Amino acid sequence: KLSKRLEMVASFVPTGAVVADIGSDHAYLPCYLIHKGIINKAIAGEVVKGPYDSAVRQVRAENLSDKITVRLADGLAAVQESDHVDTITIAGMGGPLIVSILENGKGALKSVTRLILQPNIHAKVIREWALEKGWAILDEEILDEDGKIYEVLVLQRGNMTLTEEEVLLGKFLLAKKSDVFIEKWKKEIENWERVLNSIEKAEPSPEIIAKREELHHLISLVKEALKA
Ligand code: SAM
Repeated sequence: KLSKRLEMVASFVPTGAVVADIGSDHAYLPCYLIHKGIINKAIAGEVVKGPYDSAVRQVRAENLSDKITVRLADGLAAVQESDHVDTITIAGMGGPLIVSILENGKGALKSVTRLILQPNIHAKVIREWALEKGWAILDEEILDEDGKIYEVLVLQRGNMTLTEEEVLLGKFLLAKKSDVFIEKWKKEIENWERVLNSIEKAEPSPEIIAKREELHHLISLVKEALKA
């Protein structure tokens, strides 16, 4: 059975899409998408030999070798023009790593119309990247699995405008304000307040003063956003 987290990613894959799942590990996501009849063709990319071997083994075990091509490659180098990939999924990594994969493989993005990204942390840098590179957020979700909170961002080509708080929190997530969302940001505020308390005691160097101001700013920004 697929994790709730990857099921959420899968729910945003359009019927009939040609998917490249980058950092696929066991290739659970592409296998699931094909078994469910959502798609008929996928690429599973892995840069590390161990997870690549797991993906190859899994795809063979599920008799999907004719539908899923597993490639040992760094990021979007796993995608070839003749694959006609239109949807890319990247899940289970930090936001900065996801952004660097997208940036380093720009050529492979030409045929792509949808990105489904699941950062474990720092979703903010993905929103910043999207704003800059002409991608618009189509939807966002947040979920809790085994005590960990995950965000899923769905991007399509287009322009958008986001306020500072929407870049940090997610425009759609902020509009929905689910319980998980509120829990996540309350915890963040607590963490920031803890850091703030500990640096209040430090010698006030320019760095400390700047950090303090930044934390004050973040705390009031998020508190206001949660209240509204
Ligand atoms: N996507 C799966 C999931 O969400 O359950 C696996 C997540 S796993 C934590 C991250 C995987 O990404 C690892 O198997 C790692 O080898 C792979 N990875 C990291 N950087 C990569 C890159 N530049 N290109 C391809 N795969 C990468």
